[in-house]
Amino acid sequence: MTAQTATSPALGAAYALKCRECAAEYPLDASYACLECFGPLEVAYEPTVVTREQIEAGPWSMWRYESLLPVVPGAGSRPGLQPGLTKLVKADNLAAALGARSVWVKDDSGNPTHSFKDRVVAVALENARRLGYDTIACASTGNLANAVAAAAARAGLKSVVFVPSNLEAGKIVTTAVYKGTLVAIEGNYDDVNRLCSEIAANRHWGFVNVNLRPYYAEGSKTVGFEIAEQLGWRLPDAYVSPVASGSLLTKVDKAFRELTKLGLVDEHEYQVFGAQATGCSPVSRAFQDGLDIIRPVKPDTIAKSLAIGNPADGPYAIDAVRRTNGAIADVSDEEVVEGIELLARTEGIFAETAGGVVVATYRKLLKEGLIDPGAEVVLLNTGDGLKTLDAVAPTSQPTFTISPSYDDFENNYTGENA
Ligand SMILES: *Cc1c(COP(=O)(O)O)cnc(C)c1O
Ligand SMILES: [Zn+2]
Repeated sequence: MTAQTATSPALGAAYALKCRECAAEYPLDASYACLECFGPLEVAYEPTVVTREQIEAGPWSMWRYESLLPVVPGAGSRPGLQPGLTKLVKADNLAAALGARSVWVKDDSGNPTHSFKDRVVAVALENARRLGYDTIACASTGNLANAVAAAAARAGLKSVVFVPSNLEAGKIVTTAVYKGTLVAIEGNYDDVNRLCSEIAANRHWGFVNVNLRPYYAEGSKTVGFEIAEQLGWRLPDAYVSPVASGSLLTKVDKAFRELTKLGLVDEHEYQVFGAQATGCSPVSRAFQDGLDIIRPVKPDTIAKSLAIGNPADGPYAIDAVRRTNGAIADVSDEEVVEGIELLARTEGIFAETAGGVVVATYRKLLKEGLIDPGAEVVLLNTGDGLKTLDAVAPTSQPTFTISPSYDDFENNYTGENA
């Protein structure tokens, strides 16, 4: 085990990058894999003290939790897009429709580029600047592309974004409009990711989800911090997270554990649930087969933001789910569409396909008795339906089309909702 001491400028309470497998420690630079065992590196922190009052007095964004993130303190003056503090919506109509007692939707479509990826990019970008990169890059399933291109534009940095060429039109245009470089690759996300690792090894670029991944991943904790604060500084009984690489699911769990350890919330047993689309469900498969290793798959689903066939954090996601007596399940593309439409018609929230995966998986977990209908549950809606219109276009069309005639209207209108 190498024990190198961090020499970087003070990064809040963060003091090292630490291997998740063998605990070797490295300086806080742009590395992501352990030189001893190739395990993934994670940010390690010194014990810290922070109060609810300090957090509540902070900025109206994710930066109110800066003392729990790997960033140089000084949030008030950060020039970025200020993601976070998205709405936590009490979803009583959805709960009633599903026969559940208490359901909340953490609606991250309210972020600057309409997905939770603005959070992870914000933390990565702070570190890209600290480490002297003038170009930031990423391998993306769509939402990360939006977030990187927008954040780079605002920060005055160059961006180079790599995506699979079959991405939804709504994610191509919403990236290209920021006028960085957008590279469409004829291949799936796993091909894109492999290419990016090669480029990262040869170019002095800050790849937010490759060489800056340990910092990037910590940004997802703010989803968990906000849920607890918005519930009045307490933890829910369960949450349901979509799973692509598995990072978000594990970081919300990490956030809950950190808040408990800091005494910011009372100790409370909670369950972690994971949601995938059947067309790309390697983590769900491994969980259901009782395995610790993930067998990679070739994705084929409309939930393209979750289409990672070889998920880096899959085993850690399974650990969190097993430790908390949760479960991971997957749903068909048809159920994903039903999930989107159920959330829309009960709560007025239009989620992207990933949100449809979460709602449909929650419904399935209830039906199979894997989640208690009496539990207070938070569903993570991670993205905006306007970016994945094609998913619901076939089933969401005008109720009827008529000439501009009063009689035609009266003859067609039934008084019932669709
Ligand atoms: C990236 C993404 C996820 C999942 O992220 P991981 O941390 O890789 O599991 C979920 N939902 C949406 C909309 C995303 O863009
Ligand atoms: Zn190691």
